[in-house]
Amino acid sequence: MKRRNIVAGNWKMNLTVAESKELASAVLAEIGEGFSGCEVGVAPTFVALSETGKVIESGSLFLAAQNCHFENDGAYTGEISARMLLAAGCSYVIIGHSERRQFFGETDVIVNRKVRKALQEGLNVILCVGETLEEREGGITGDVVTRQVKGGLDGIAGIGELVIAYEPVWAIGTGKTATSEQAQEVHALIRRTVAELYGTEAADCLRIQYGGSVKPSNAAELFAMPDIDGGLIGGASLNAADFAAIVRAAC
Ligand code: PEP
Repeated sequence: MKRRNIVAGNWKMNLTVAESKELASAVLAEIGEGFSGCEVGVAPTFVALSETGKVIESGSLFLAAQNCHFENDGAYTGEISARMLLAAGCSYVIIGHSERRQFFGETDVIVNRKVRKALQEGLNVILCVGETLEEREGGITGDVVTRQVKGGLDGIAGIGELVIAYEPVWAIGTGKTATSEQAQEVHALIRRTVAELYGTEAADCLRIQYGGSVKPSNAAELFAMPDIDGGLIGGASLNAADFAAIVRAAC
């Protein structure tokens, strides 16, 4: 099954609005026409979404948000809803990133509510899953990832174009990358889990990104694995040349 690779740059809590616009222009200039074979996008901070969206409008990058709330509006000080993100030009939202789970107490139940709301509003989702170092060393990677996938998708009738990102927590921002074999093993497990839930056709179409210290030097090897369909890129996405090199490896 030939799936279209998808690469997204998660800019996290970095860059002002002006810096975000500058990076978006630099990314477009660096990758040029080099991404027709795959889907590429960036996820700036909330405040930089609209302005960054204007910069990438002429190119064909998609705009993603890094989080959303599970209600459309109301008394939730400091929060942003999926409906607002859609109106700001986003087509994707990253949900359940390990930093959200770790630092902001997001459980599978909260992640699931967010996924449901985003899909309901017509926003596509990148659902992040991944085990900690302790969990990997304890031999429970498969259990954790399966629980996160099932929990995140609980009660969702069809996944449509939803994307899953496998991001081992021990590989995020640490410079340690999972070997392509380690990543492939978990990606295959995720696909089997989705097949169990939604059937083999949906599982065959599902794109599963790898995330965790992807760099120009390791991207091609990771993306060559049969169940790895692109990457969710943190640190390296803040450098236009590095991000473009990763995009080229995926396309
Ligand atoms: C991430 O946070 O999604 C990520 C993969 O970060 P990094 O590439 O820096 O490890």
